[in-house]
Amino acid sequence: MGENQRKFIDRVNELTGDNVYRCYQCGRCSAGCPMAMEMDYLPNQIIRLVQMGREEEIKGSKTLFLCATCFACQGRCPKGIDIAQIMEAIRHLLEPKGSDFFGPDEVPENLASELPQQVLVSIYKKFAK
Ligand code: SF4
Ligand code: SF4
Repeated sequence: MGENQRKFIDRVNELTGDNVYRCYQCGRCSAGCPMAMEMDYLPNQIIRLVQMGREEEIKGSKTLFLCATCFACQGRCPKGIDIAQIMEAIRHLLEPKGSDFFGPDEVPENLASELPQQVLVSIYKKFAK
């Protein structure tokens, strides 16, 4: 494994305060993920890619932005691994955010009052400037 790969793994571990190598790929997280059908890489596959330092593959994955931060995976994980937090850490490491990102004041008022708070928090975590 190269230095850049090791750095990527260290950075994810540092940002999450966890150790991705605790995951032993049982797949329970993916089996309970409500968004799994839409994902290109399942949650456990994202963790495996992090373990292997395959940064570019992960950063091109739509899974990072489909995760609904519902924490179902963490509840099912025998190791209590917080995959939503790992996804967030990887998003943080993405290249500078582009024009697709928006601020809280740009959410239409009628939507802001109707959507569950969890949805808004999840959207802000992924797309806020
Ligand atoms: S937090 Fe994300 S990865 Fe985990 S179960 Fe929910 S949608 Fe799936
Ligand atoms: S449930 Fe936990 S240990 Fe099992 S694959 Fe998912 S993250 Fe890894």
